[in-house]
Amino acid sequence: MSKVKVSVVTPDGPVYSGEAEMVSVKGLGGELGILPNHIPFVTPLTINPIRLMNDGKSDLVAVHGGFIEVRPDEITILAQAAELPSTIDVERARKAKERAEERLRQGQQEKIDFVRAENALKRALNRLEVAE
Ligand code: ATP
Repeated sequence: MSKVKVSVVTPDGPVYSGEAEMVSVKGLGGELGILPNHIPFVTPLTINPIRLMNDGKSDLVAVHGGFIEVRPDEITILAQAAELPSTIDVERARKAKERAEERLRQGQQEKIDFVRAENALKRALNRLEVAE
């Protein structure tokens, strides 16, 4: 089966570099399954795992937003933060989830930055999903 090169890059450096038979991501408009030789496009991503399919198996990477650039032979994902399952600190993500949930509860009484708290919660849930 043909493959496409895939790299996930953050400001801290490359997080993943490899190949895949198919890459599945969640864009703002919904889920996208991208095969090798796809026509070029760029689109923003939501805070969700990306899935790299190879030999009937799939690897997950937690990607916290950013953009995907698709070219026929190469897919590049650029995000402010991204982690492989093996590098995720589950305890840290659990604490971040609790903090974000507490902030969102407080927000029912006082003014808080909802988008910031919601995004922190999404990042924590993304990490916990990928680390499982
Ligand atoms: P926290 O509140 O725990 O810092 P956060 O969502 O605010 O979480 P980010 O700003 O998204 O953290 O990330 C900052 C850096 O820390 C990034 O390099 C990211 O990959 C890393 N990081 C954050 N949380 C974790 C985690 N649970 N495990 C591994 N790396 C993490």
